Amino acid sequence: MPQVPTVTGMVEAEELGTTLIHEHLRNADEAVRNQWPHVGAVKEDQPHEVAPDQVYEIAVREAQAAVDLGVKTIGEPTAMFLGRDVEFMRRVSVETGLQVVPCTGIYTYDHLPQFLMNRDPDQIAELFVHDIEDGIQGTEIMAAFIKCAADEPGVNENIEKVHRAAARASVRTGAPIMAHSRPASNTGPRQVEIFLEEGVEPSKIQIAHTGDTDDLDYIEGLLETGVWIGLDRYGLDIFLPYDRRQATAKALLERGYADRIFLSADSVATTDWFPVNVSDGLIAAGAAHDWTIRIVHERVLPELREWGLTEEQEQTMMVENPVRWLTG
Ligand SMILES: [Zn+2]
Repeated sequence: MPQVPTVTGMVEAEELGTTLIHEHLRNADEAVRNQWPHVGAVKEDQPHEVAPDQVYEIAVREAQAAVDLGVKTIGEPTAMFLGRDVEFMRRVSVETGLQVVPCTGIYTYDHLPQFLMNRDPDQIAELFVHDIEDGIQGTEIMAAFIKCAADEPGVNENIEKVHRAAARASVRTGAPIMAHSRPASNTGPRQVEIFLEEGVEPSKIQIAHTGDTDDLDYIEGLLETGVWIGLDRYGLDIFLPYDRRQATAKALLERGYADRIFLSADSVATTDWFPVNVSDGLIAAGAAHDWTIRIVHERVLPELREWGLTEEQEQTMMVENPVRWLTG
């Protein structure tokens, strides 16, 4: 029976249960957090900056809300540069019972620090393999998957290097890959191409944020390669409004793709990316609405059920796909 690493140890794959594949318990600039630990974060329902010690409380609150809605597990794709802290994840998991599946990897759209500039893909892959086989940040918590990203700058030299490193670590360990993508910049096809060139099985590749477009030709082009796609930013209206995300999900379900789709929100319990005034401005401008770990179970699934989503399709997307992607 295959097992999957979580922040509280290995679990039987069949114990993952209902899983949101892409939710963040915290999003922070790790360099700023290290240099200026007094700086807090924002949460859209808080009128002021959240103090550092409240960041944990809010993560627990959000994780508990997910558990109360029947979520048993989350994929936690917080990698390098997003403030990965597996001890923080472990505390939240222990306090709430939410199973948290952690990752290794590097989240950048372009910039790499000198340490990574001066290393080749194999040397970077070594870092990922370490997290998968030996444990993360000095703990015995193993990484379950590998994260990388391509965004508006496209798949440039630095991004290609990180993708090749992710691919090589995947081939060596069998760990699957989650690749942040930007459909508006057409990154998905090139990301898949690199992984396949490196010998990664399509069944181990998840192209996250594919649901930021409703261009079905683009989406089916990716699906034809055999990869998974994330319809994983419900509530982030700035990239695609909610109704168009739902219309896309329905169209893909009608075409029989339930066994290739993940539904999630890419929510962050808190983030320090924006000061309060900027965050308030974004919310006021409609950039995000109901963008929480709760939205899939409170809104997306009930609406889809009303529309005709079958129990079998729901079970496939929310329970079986995570197991199949994580265990290959
Ligand atoms: Zn994310």
